[in-house]
Amino acid sequence: MSMKDNDYICPDCKGHLNVGNYLVFATQTERKHKGLIMMSPVVGNYEYTHHNKFILNEGEKVDFECPICQSDLTSSQNKDYAMIHMVGELDGSEYELYFSKITGNKSTYLVANDDVESFGAHDLDFEDLLYN
Ligand SMILES: [Zn+2]
Repeated sequence: MSMKDNDYICPDCKGHLNVGNYLVFATQTERKHKGLIMMSPVVGNYEYTHHNKFILNEGEKVDFECPICQSDLTSSQNKDYAMIHMVGELDGSEYELYFSKITGNKSTYLVANDDVESFGAHDLDFEDLLYN
């Protein structure tokens, strides 16, 4: 699946989070610094870009908000993860996409029904994500 052609959608307002070749989020660090982050829409690619005055420290937890409706995207299942919806370009099916809110933590989960796919160097058991 070529992930970059999928649609990424805010679970609250259903607005599109992908613009051009990026996913756009409004974020706030634990130090209350705010900034926009542009992330690769390729699941498992952890490159991101932001204004050079907006500093993210390795290991720092970042709150992700929808840039359209300002809804907090923190997963109700695990507050260390954010969750957005992904609609597959090819089959039109909807997935829940979970990604770590910790800077430098490379773990992403793609969930459709009971099917879980994990990506990244720091992936853990999905049960741990849901119940820790
Ligand atoms: Zn929204």
